[in-house]
Formats: sequence, C-alpha cells, structure tokens
Amino acid sequence: MIQLPISFDDVARAHERIAGAVHRTPVLTSSSANERTGAQIFFKCENLQRTGAFKIRGAYNALAQFSPEQRACGVVTYSSGNHAQGIALAAKLLGIKAVIVMPRDAPAIKVAATRGYGADVVTYDRYTEDREAIGNALAAEHGLTLIPPYDHAHVMAGQGTAAKELIEDAGPLDVLLVPLGGGGLLSGCATAAKAMNPDCRVLGVEPEAGDDGQRSFRSGQIVHIATPDTIADGAQTQHLGQHTFAVIRARVDDILTVPDPALVAAMTFFAGHMKITVEPSGCLGAAVALDPRMDFKNKRVGVIVSGGNIDLQRMAMLIQKAA
Ligand SMILES: *Cc1c(COP(=O)(O)O)cnc(C)c1O
Repeated sequence: MIQLPISFDDVARAHERIAGAVHRTPVLTSSSANERTGAQIFFKCENLQRTGAFKIRGAYNALAQFSPEQRACGVVTYSSGNHAQGIALAAKLLGIKAVIVMPRDAPAIKVAATRGYGADVVTYDRYTEDREAIGNALAAEHGLTLIPPYDHAHVMAGQGTAAKELIEDAGPLDVLLVPLGGGGLLSGCATAAKAMNPDCRVLGVEPEAGDDGQRSFRSGQIVHIATPDTIADGAQTQHLGQHTFAVIRARVDDILTVPDPALVAAMTFFAGHMKITVEPSGCLGAAVALDPRMDFKNKRVGVIVSGGNIDLQRMAMLIQKAA
C-alpha cells in the first residue's frame, strides 16, 4: 500500500498547533436553507476566519514547524489572494519575515492587506514572468523557505482542521461539500472526514469553467488547463498538485462543477438570508447544497464556506447584474 502524504494524525496535530492562533469559526444553520432543500445543512463559516479565509490554518501549521534556521531566514510564497494574507499573518504571529510574490496588477486592496501584516511584496508581470521561478530564485538567493498555496503536506493537514471542527461541532454528516482549487482544502478535509465519519460522502466542488479537477479525478491523470474564466478567483487554478491529487483519489467520492450564475445565487442567499458576506469561491459548496436537482432530502449536509474576501462594490455589481 502506498503511503499517502497526510493522515488523520497529521490533521489532529495541526489542530493542536494552530489552536490559539486561528479562530474556531462558527457552524451556522439556516431554516430557509433547510426548508428549501429538505436537508439539514451545516455551514462552516471560514469567511469569518482571521484574514477572511481558511488559508491561515495551513499557513500557520507550516510556519509553526520551521526549524530555528528557517525561522531566522524567513518564508517566501507566490499568491495574489488569500494564501498571501494567510502566510503574511502567520509569519507576523510567529515573528518570521515573509516575502510575497504578487502580480503587478493585483487588486491594490489585497497588496495593501498583505503589506499591512508586515510582509515584503515583490511584484512581477504575470504575462511575461513566471511566479514560481521568481519564488524559487528568491528562496535560493536569501535562504527563504518556499511554502506553496496547496501542494504541501503541512498546508494540506492544516486546511483539514476546518472539517475536523465542523464534524466535532455538527456531529456525523451524510455529505460534505468542499470548494476545490488546487486541492489543499479538499485533501485535508477528506482526510479528516473519512477518519471521523467513514460513511460521509466527500464531494469536491469546482467552477464549471475550470473542470480540471473533475477530469483529473475521473481519468486518473492530473489534467492541466489554461487559467479558467470564472468569478471564483480563489479556485482559479490550472491543475491539482501531486500530493493533493494522491489524497483526493484515495479519499474523495466525486468532484462536481458549478457555473458562475449559481455562485452569484448562493452569494445572494448568504447575504440576504444569513447576513454574511461570502466570496464566489466560498459559495461553491453551498451552490451544490442549494441546487434543487441534488437530492439531499433528510440528509445531514456539511458545507465548507471557504472565504469572504470580496470587495463590496464588486459583490453589489454581481448581484445587480443577475437581478
Ligand atoms: C484557496 C481557496 C480555495 C481553494 O482551495 P485549494 O486548497 O486551492 O483547493 C477555495 N476558496 C477560497 C476562498 C480560497 O481562498
């Protein structure tokens, strides 16, 4: 039997490591959602997590395991989104220097938030330069440790703590719906769910425009695609990772896709009925849970609500356009 990159024990130890640094986010329920679907839905609200997304879980778990030498030199990563802020805050909490490689045209608000946590931001041209090459060069030159956004065992184990908390707080589930980009969140959550609750069906959910995860899962080979055109910017990845894919193949039951209009409908539901702000990627699981074609009647359904970082102007525009 092949050894998988992470076990439940890794998730449980990550949970001990991050406690105190990371919020135990609430699990919300909604009678509107339950009436509409006939299911009992439990929303794990990582939009209310520090930095506004679950990524601080994996980032903190990775940085907390640095050796004294690694701590002294610092961390580098590439991300324009929630992983950048997760690494920046985790590094600040642990007193580690962070360098974040971001595209020159990244939203000013995200660059400002990352700098606000004390990280150094290095910009690049995303049309002509390769962010991984820049990250690797910085790592080699300055002795920094590179922590990628998803394909790393410590990151994956940290992300799995979200599902561990959800099942501890909500009780056993029949189905768990998890947003999918590069697979850090899904691989960690599937590892926790299958260990705690072996009968739980674990489903990954990705944007329809970027169905590489579904195609990879069904074909058994990692499929690479061009950057997908979707409003779900947190799940706009081009391929799964080697490590995340190995875990997903072994522990996930299926991968579903959702078109952008269903994400806007779920975002509108969250704002209108539950009074919470959820970014499009954070709506992937909920869009499936609320889909009338899914038969979740009398089922206990867990949904990971992965993040809430969306500019209010943009959210208003998306909702308005759909109305
Ligand atoms: C990063 C992210 C995802 C996707 O997570 P992966 O670990 O890359 O699969 C989904 N939702 C939000 C809000 C994210 O920030």
